[in-house]
Amino acid sequence: LSEEAQNILDAHEWVSKLYHHLLKHTKEGKQGNEYMRNRGILDETIDAFQIGFAPNVENFTASFLEKKGFHLQTMVKAGLLTAQMEQVYKDRFRGRVIFPIRNHQGKTVAFGGRIIDNGEPKYLNSPETEIFHKGKIFYNFDLARNHIRKTGEVILFEGYLDVIAAYQAGIKNGVATLGTSLTEAQAKLLKRYVDTVIICYDADRAGLEATNKAAKLLQQSGCTVKVAKLKQGMDPDDYIRAYGNESFHKHVIEASVTYMSFHLDYLKKDFNLQVDSDRLEYIERALDEIAKIQKPIERDHYVKDLGESFEISNEVLQQEIAYRRRKID
Ligand code: ATP
Ligand code: MN
Ligand code: MN
Ligand code: MN
Repeated sequence: LSEEAQNILDAHEWVSKLYHHLLKHTKEGKQGNEYMRNRGILDETIDAFQIGFAPNVENFTASFLEKKGFHLQTMVKAGLLTAQMEQVYKDRFRGRVIFPIRNHQGKTVAFGGRIIDNGEPKYLNSPETEIFHKGKIFYNFDLARNHIRKTGEVILFEGYLDVIAAYQAGIKNGVATLGTSLTEAQAKLLKRYVDTVIICYDADRAGLEATNKAAKLLQQSGCTVKVAKLKQGMDPDDYIRAYGNESFHKHVIEASVTYMSFHLDYLKKDFNLQVDSDRLEYIERALDEIAKIQKPIERDHYVKDLGESFEISNEVLQQEIAYRRRKID
């Protein structure tokens, strides 16, 4: 580790303690505390994730770091401060709830900050630094690692608060990407630990698209992918708050479907299934996908499903599959 990298690590350690202390015990952090409470996050969860608050003051963190003897220009590189003309140093995170991002060894290497009220951007994250490469780590991987090993499964979420709400609901093998799409490096990392990845992204357009992309990458890395489905428009945190822990376990995580099942559903987005010509096109499209499945039993399963959904005889569908298989083999 370079001296600068060590400095950046040390600063994050201090600042995360500062923000956490402010949220828990001071009037400067009261807003943040109330915000998390209103979102149903308990004290013990706040401790487990070392959640904090960065006060809405221009140079609170800057003067703290200065007093601790840190070189402020290095703190700009660390992403903790911003500078004008290398003279006026200001806090990067202001008036935000802070989620420390720990690397896989448990060291805090970056922060994610959520604005309290409405405002832009909703989340502000640390920039890439010498010690923080967002495409290579997962939020909460250090705490989740043992649970991931034990269960042989990992649950992939979109946001910090999804991981946190799931943790509070007793699901401790959850991790999240850091506001970016899953990378190949991240997919390969998961494959080293598990066979099965359950993707539990937001049930909106962006989430569905991201699910499809992540699933492809994960399959290429040799993982079995399942998809947990939520009610339209919800994310895992919303769901848990609306329907409770037990329902989330039972109706979301345990009810997760195979990637193929998700994918066949996802393809429907491009068709209006009320219209005959579109229905037929979709069926062709679905058959193309099903024909690619290597295992005959699996293939048969989806063929039957398709037949039942669209009231088409199994015989005809099997002929269509056989025709497509001849082209593949
Ligand atoms: P909340 O429940 O607090 O509204 P969320 O996690 O549901 O937050 P999403 O909009 O679903 O928010 O975003 C998912 C994740 O994407 C966030 O946790 C964050 O990591 C990242 N993200 C969202 N908005 C931004 C942004 N403006 N800049 C950078 N990252 C962002
Ligand atoms: Mn989202
Ligand atoms: Mn969300
Ligand atoms: Mn949310």
